[in-house]
Amino acid sequence: MDSHAPDLTAQALATDVPAADGKKILLANPRGYCAGVDRAVVTVEKALELYGAPVYVRKQIVHNVHVVRTLEERGAIFVEETEEVPEGSIVVFSAHGVAPVVHEEAKVRNLKTIDATCPLVTKVHLEARRFASDDYDILLIGHEGHEEVIGTSGEAPEHIHLIDGPEDVANVQVRDPAKVVWLSQTTLSVDETMRTVAALREKFPDLISPPSDDICYATQNRQLAVKRFAGDCDLVLVVGSRNSSNSVRLVEVALESGARSSYLIDYPKDIQPEWLDGVRTVGLTSGASVPDELVRGVIDVLGEHGFQDVEVVTEAEERLTFSLPQELKRDLRAAGRR
Ligand code: SF4
Repeated sequence: MDSHAPDLTAQALATDVPAADGKKILLANPRGYCAGVDRAVVTVEKALELYGAPVYVRKQIVHNVHVVRTLEERGAIFVEETEEVPEGSIVVFSAHGVAPVVHEEAKVRNLKTIDATCPLVTKVHLEARRFASDDYDILLIGHEGHEEVIGTSGEAPEHIHLIDGPEDVANVQVRDPAKVVWLSQTTLSVDETMRTVAALREKFPDLISPPSDDICYATQNRQLAVKRFAGDCDLVLVVGSRNSSNSVRLVEVALESGARSSYLIDYPKDIQPEWLDGVRTVGLTSGASVPDELVRGVIDVLGEHGFQDVEVVTEAEERLTFSLPQELKRDLRAAGRR
């Protein structure tokens, strides 16, 4: 454990409330923004600066209520489908990726597109395309209806079977059991996915694995950080939205790893005082689409309840960054901006 609290804890420590002995916060590191979310949010911000409002965004750019509201205030308009975007407008595709048919729809409507799909989601799209062209049956482990799964499935709908957990394994039928590969959504629980893969392998002994991890580094690191402290926590708070797959998984991981209770909250005000009854140690983390200002707000609220000792629990240091989408970089350069 790293006993050095980051700058954000200074604010919490500065409250006037006297410290209550033994009450402490274990703060996960890493938490919050990943490289793909940062790139997607900056893409919309730069597009607004460069082209002016409105900039249309197909689906929530990232699955976080606060981020979406903040961008709306700056002039972004979020829509569900491409047909809602006026012809000739600018549209940003979200970090979760889109099926090829969505690019075609945008072309028909003469839209200027900026694709903010996370490069780690694009990697899974490319794997799906490659295995489909080699005529494999692809078992895509993921949550039915999630945008990322819809986008990946759209790469090769005739080859992909969705597996939404171990209970789906019994019913899956493939053309040739000797030619089967599994891929996955990037934001799943690592442990549950491995249980699903084990069940698939029992049914299809020749099943092959993706060339590299599909569950992304950010999802894995945030789950590992929670596992490190969950057993020491009376309560684990996860800042994140209900439609954020990786945030929801963090609550599940906390409970599976020994936390006595765990809740998902969008905002600091969502903390219910009764959750803190008898609690001495609170674990705190946030999903990959959550800005750290919300975590700072939670630390402030917990400080008001006597949790003024903040200990950072470090699982990994993340330095990965992704460059902006090419189409945006080109226009920024042409306008003499970076
Ligand atoms: Fe990319 Fe992973 Fe972040 Fe999703 S959670 S945007 S896949 S880095």
